[in-house]
Amino acid sequence: MQQFKEALSTFHALCLGMILLALCILKFGLIPTYAYYFVWQSTFVFLIIALFLSIYFNKSKLFVLLLFPLFFDLALAFPSTLFTKLSVTAFWHITPLITALGYLLLYALQERGLFSSFGAFRTALGLIVLGIGYLGLKYFSPSMQQALDTPILHASLHGLSKASDFILIISLISLLFIFLISLLFEVQSQKAPFWMLLAQMIPFLFLQESNSFLLFSLVTSLIAISALVHDAYRMAYADTLTGIPSRRALEERFLHLGSHYMIAMADIDFFKKFNDKFGHDIGDDVLKLVAKELSHIKNGGKAYRYGGEEFTILFNGKKKEECIMALEEVRERIFRRGFVIRDKNRPEKVPQEIQKANTVKKERLSISIGLATSSKGKTPNEIIKIADDALYKAKESGRNCLICL
Ligand code: GH3
Ligand code: MG
Ligand code: MG
Repeated sequence: MQQFKEALSTFHALCLGMILLALCILKFGLIPTYAYYFVWQSTFVFLIIALFLSIYFNKSKLFVLLLFPLFFDLALAFPSTLFTKLSVTAFWHITPLITALGYLLLYALQERGLFSSFGAFRTALGLIVLGIGYLGLKYFSPSMQQALDTPILHASLHGLSKASDFILIISLISLLFIFLISLLFEVQSQKAPFWMLLAQMIPFLFLQESNSFLLFSLVTSLIAISALVHDAYRMAYADTLTGIPSRRALEERFLHLGSHYMIAMADIDFFKKFNDKFGHDIGDDVLKLVAKELSHIKNGGKAYRYGGEEFTILFNGKKKEECIMALEEVRERIFRRGFVIRDKNRPEKVPQEIQKANTVKKERLSISIGLATSSKGKTPNEIIKIADDALYKAKESGRNCLICL
């Protein structure tokens, strides 16, 4: 539920919002026809920006997929330069088919960067698909149209889209495939192709009008740019191992803190033993688990990875008792939970019976916490030092406890 809420509040909501906005613009005619000249120009500018960013961030998938709207926008903008005569029927048959098939094929290839043999292969494949699209547009014939327009779906489903049944089915397969695969990834540059394809398919399947195609190509480029910016932000402000905000994000947060706040420093007790006894990978798993528990802290606390096995929890404008209550709750939760070390050949989920048969071992896991209150004339970094002193005292008092200074 929490994840669903987070998804809705970020990149996905932005993509959906842009698509809905474009639909509203078209439905209510918010852009006068003469102004589409500027949309046309903006589309090219933003597609070029998106392409440059994908090169800069070494993202071959986005780079090649962006070539599709660029090529078809160019075809639409310069029909007599690229073709002797571009037929409208050809455009609305070939473009959606090539886009859907191209996305399906190119998305399936693993991302290994643009400047690699993989990237070169993907680019070459993309260009071949676009070459086929070019030939399809140039030599489109009535027999091709007839073949593509052959009814496949049940009569009751006709009229579902303006495109032929075959194109509709291929588009839906491609969208579904990309959607399912994108669920495996955390980064937005891997999730963006689903939204990009959806944005391109709307004019193909439902509108079939060149201004709508231009507007949705603009949306496609903006989706790609947002994904790249989002990933860059994540790289800068999220801790790569645990996924929670990093120390850099904490320092950024310090710039706009209120006058009353509390800072807690939490440190895993005897963490070194996990590394020494079970290896660095298990140590990393312990860090992830503690970070996850801390990120669910109550009463408005926000957890950051300060460094190593130390975390900072920031409470802005909260009462001391509320902070102590939330910190004690999370400390106890981590202690009660412990850390289960399972056999290397374990199945992903261990059946209850096996757990009882002592094939798993629960290791003691606890954190010590030092808490400090903001005071006039002291910077957040000075408050961190006080919280650190409190943490040191908590360690001295036997660990697995909270000390407030
Ligand atoms: P104490 O209860 O006094 O805090 O003892 P401790 O063993 O937790 O503390 P110590 O500072 O001696 O050990 C911290 C260890 O954390 C040392 C370092 O190798 C390890 N560490 C730091 N960052 C990482 C990381 O990202 N992954 C892993 N696996 N270990 C890390
Ligand atoms: Mg430490
Ligand atoms: Mg420690």
